Amino acid sequence: AHLDRIAAVDGDLNAFLHVSEEEALTTARDVDTRRAAGEELHPLAGMPIAVKDVVVTKGQPTTAGSRILEGWVPPYDATLVEKIRAAGLPILGKTNMDEFAMGSSTETSAYGPTRNPWDRDRIPGGSGGGSAAAVGSYEAPLAIGTDTGGSIRQPGAVTGTVGVKPTYGSISRYGLIAMASSLDQAGPVTRTVEDSALLHELIAGHDLRDSTSLPDPVGPYAEAARRQDVKGMRVGVIEELEGEGFAPEVRARFTESLEKLEQAGAEIVRVSCPNFRYALGAYYLIMPSEASSNLAKFDGMRYGLRVVPEDHPTAENVMKATRGAGFGDEVKRRILLGTYALSAGYYDAYYGSAQKVRTLVQRDFAAAFEKVDVLASPTSPTVAFRLGEKLDDPMAMYLNDIATIPANLAGTPGISLPSGLAEDGLPAGIQFLAPARADERLYQVGGALE
Ligand code: GLN
Repeated sequence: AHLDRIAAVDGDLNAFLHVSEEEALTTARDVDTRRAAGEELHPLAGMPIAVKDVVVTKGQPTTAGSRILEGWVPPYDATLVEKIRAAGLPILGKTNMDEFAMGSSTETSAYGPTRNPWDRDRIPGGSGGGSAAAVGSYEAPLAIGTDTGGSIRQPGAVTGTVGVKPTYGSISRYGLIAMASSLDQAGPVTRTVEDSALLHELIAGHDLRDSTSLPDPVGPYAEAARRQDVKGMRVGVIEELEGEGFAPEVRARFTESLEKLEQAGAEIVRVSCPNFRYALGAYYLIMPSEASSNLAKFDGMRYGLRVVPEDHPTAENVMKATRGAGFGDEVKRRILLGTYALSAGYYDAYYGSAQKVRTLVQRDFAAAFEKVDVLASPTSPTVAFRLGEKLDDPMAMYLNDIATIPANLAGTPGISLPSGLAEDGLPAGIQFLAPARADERLYQVGGALE
């Protein structure tokens, strides 16, 4: 049914870059046979899933939305993909994304934009717009996203889906094409909070192949999502993330969601995180710095595209020509920003200052979590904007991430879920943030609000 749905709507939506029909059907039939034979299977066995194209999948093309990886088929699976396959979830294919996960609208993909299923003239958020649109349009019940600065949560908010960015280190990054290694974290994209919890439990866990992987026990998340109990829970509204710049109806839906929680017995308090106002600036130095280093390996020698200039085809000229042709404008902009911020003489002023801000943001979180159990804000300042609207204005595009970025800088977990319909009848999202390693609180509050 999901493959039929993809065939019917994806020509328009462009949520998928690759559909693995044969593999999905083989897995589904295999699960049926095993179930009929009485085998005890994972609760999600047989549930189809779509995977963001920045996660490597053995035997399935993986491009990260870039021309530079066109035609590359990875020889191995990411750890989280291994877990998905072992549990018997049919992989429907790979989803569209901003090139190397750089963007908030899925418009920087080298393979054309994804459209928002609610209004096809609008963006589905980014960078994981393909995963969110696939789930929001019923092409897939589950998907995998990655969140370096909001790429799971902001697409979730603008497509009316649920997205979770787990605690940094709880999901192995082995097999994720790195954007900014100290910020990247994979997580679930689903239609319900409980589905996210089940998927989170499946893909989390310690992995020796990722040196930042946490040894913590996983869950119980699904149980927390089902609890429906927030009595006495202290929810902190982040003062810096609800006023100016947030659309009136997005704010209204946010306030109504808080009222529902209050009626259910939660205590709503206001907290200030004064350094959050510097988070966006710090992120847009740290992220490009790490990305400029991570992307150095795409040199025309190892993977995918290779452009050989006719005159002087030296190794250096092949690298220049390949990177010139293979990377899009946004990726080039960030490589330039990153190499500049890291260069001798500027390193302390830019990268060093940004790292200090990162510490201040972490301290704001620590102080806030002494007073409250979870923090809340609208996920994204506005509903989905129109395709093309912010494409020529990087600053306007970056401002979309104002509410999501602090959690990435601090390594703390966050969930976005629908708060209702706002401007133009389009979905808005509410975000909850918890201390590191307290992901179950997100499921508890999310499950109670849903
Ligand atoms: N909008 C963010 C950026 O462009 C999203 C990054 C991400 O989470 N992958 O950097």
